[in-house]
Amino acid sequence: NLPQPSNFIKNIVNEDLKMNKNDGRVHTRFPPEPNGYLHIGHAKSICLNFGLANEYGGLCNLRFDDTNPSKEEVEFVESIQQDVKWLGFDWGDRMFYASDYFEELYQFAVKLIKAGKAYVCDLSPQEMKEYRGTLTEPGKESPYRSRSVEENLDLFERMRKGEFPNGSRVLRAKIDMASPNLNMRDPVLYRIMRATHHRTGDKWCIYPMYDYAHPLSDALEGITHSICTLEFEDHRPLYDWVIDNCMQDSHLESRPQQIEFARLNLTNTVMSKRKLRELVEEGYVKGWDDPRMPTISGLRRRGYTPEAIRDFCDRIGVAKSNSTVDIALLEHCIREDLNSKAPRVMAVLRPLKVVITNYSENLVEEMEAENNPENPEMGTRKIPFSRVIYIEQEDFMENPPKKYFRLAPGQEVRLKHAYVIKCEEVIKDEKTGEVIELRCTYDPTTKSGADTSGRKVKGTLHWVSAANALKAEVRLYEHLLLEDDAEEDEENTDWKAKLNPNSLVTLNNCLVEPSLVGAAPGSRYQFMRQGYFCVDPDSTEGKLVFNRIVGLRDSWSK
Ligand code: ATP
Ligand code: MG
Ligand code: MG
Repeated sequence: NLPQPSNFIKNIVNEDLKMNKNDGRVHTRFPPEPNGYLHIGHAKSICLNFGLANEYGGLCNLRFDDTNPSKEEVEFVESIQQDVKWLGFDWGDRMFYASDYFEELYQFAVKLIKAGKAYVCDLSPQEMKEYRGTLTEPGKESPYRSRSVEENLDLFERMRKGEFPNGSRVLRAKIDMASPNLNMRDPVLYRIMRATHHRTGDKWCIYPMYDYAHPLSDALEGITHSICTLEFEDHRPLYDWVIDNCMQDSHLESRPQQIEFARLNLTNTVMSKRKLRELVEEGYVKGWDDPRMPTISGLRRRGYTPEAIRDFCDRIGVAKSNSTVDIALLEHCIREDLNSKAPRVMAVLRPLKVVITNYSENLVEEMEAENNPENPEMGTRKIPFSRVIYIEQEDFMENPPKKYFRLAPGQEVRLKHAYVIKCEEVIKDEKTGEVIELRCTYDPTTKSGADTSGRKVKGTLHWVSAANALKAEVRLYEHLLLEDDAEEDEENTDWKAKLNPNSLVTLNNCLVEPSLVGAAPGSRYQFMRQGYFCVDPDSTEGKLVFNRIVGLRDSWSK
């Protein structure tokens, strides 16, 4: 009973299982390079790799692809583990590092040299580029290509020992300088680089290239399906060459197969780690976990749930050609998840004072409020109502157009969970003319849940009681990039011109209902009529800080 093949990769796995390939095993891996924080694109790969293992009763390794020490750090290793766990996946005892295989990889390289399939090359990087040729022109063989096995063995050993300067020599595979596939024109396998590695320290001064280390790491771990993004499609012959030539006589439990899928691109979002790193290092955002970042830690701090991210990854599916997903779909997924989960509370972001002149000075009524009409099991709470309240500035207009159902001079609205009030008088600042207070009356027969007036009022506003409300700071976020088309062009140096100058707007004088007292960082709420919000760790005892996760209006449509 094989899982329904809902994407082309499952088709491949199902076919493999039917033929009992790999003795019926399914073993995937998620192989991040610890040179940055994981982003929503990585979540797609995590859901795919761990998801396949879960569905097929197989295994998925977490492997740190740590073969380039110049950019890798322990901080990233730790954040990656935290993020994968938070997303809800478990690698059990199968956490590995490519650097664990450095000695084995070195021995495989020695074997290639002995078989006449690799050589030490002294061309400069510039020369190597020239010799490489182009898509329309075959490459030229390096003058060092014919070095003897003995000389190559000696030089490679001395490269390891540190006898040569950085970048002075490389080890190359001897494949085919006329291959139509540029990746097969004697690719570099090892480079000399003196850099302290986060795990192996200064033990090595030569490091293997990705195209060499990756297939071998897969094979050593018994990976059956090695899933990567499309840009590696024309590296696949090299992937196979490395395994064939290094391991042909080793007893391989299985032969890993590289399968490429389309990477995730999102509108209005930068995704490449290099660019994200620039945003952090150049201070465009406050850190890797800035709630505007598409990183897992940024999304978490913003208030996204693992469920919403997994749902998103499910809905976007897995395809063989690149496309860009509308970020509105991600926003749709978090709304869907929080709609029935998040308590609905009242918060006023830009307060306007309202005095209810016929309401007794010393009275505070406890109004009964349901916590979530979508989910009655969440129960009710009490909200204090008193003579002085605050409403939203934008819920009042002095000269409203027709069909304006909020508050205006002489007009009535219902206060949610409370009474119908009528605006009797508008008080303005003498100097600026700005509306600073409304004087209203309430109708005691209109109490919510006990309305005996039979009156119908069209507008319903949220509010907080002045004497009881808690001070809050609210951070409103917009997309980081102004343009939809976030075209991931690595060469594009001008991409920062598209940064949205209003991606963060901070409101400092917000007021929230008192039931939120002591709300823990990470707690999520729906602020009625405003959107979904999450308590930020910057909150202090005297002041809650909220991040807007997403507004209420859903712009996603199928
Ligand atoms: P970036 O290009 O953002 O630097 P990367 O591919 O270099 O990403 P890795 O740490 O090597 O980053 O990625 C780990 C795994 O996640 C790889 O298997 C890679 O294919 C996958 N991955 C990275 N970005 C995306 C994406 N946008 N969509 C889907 N999978 C991705
Ligand atoms: Mg990579
Ligand atoms: Mg990269």
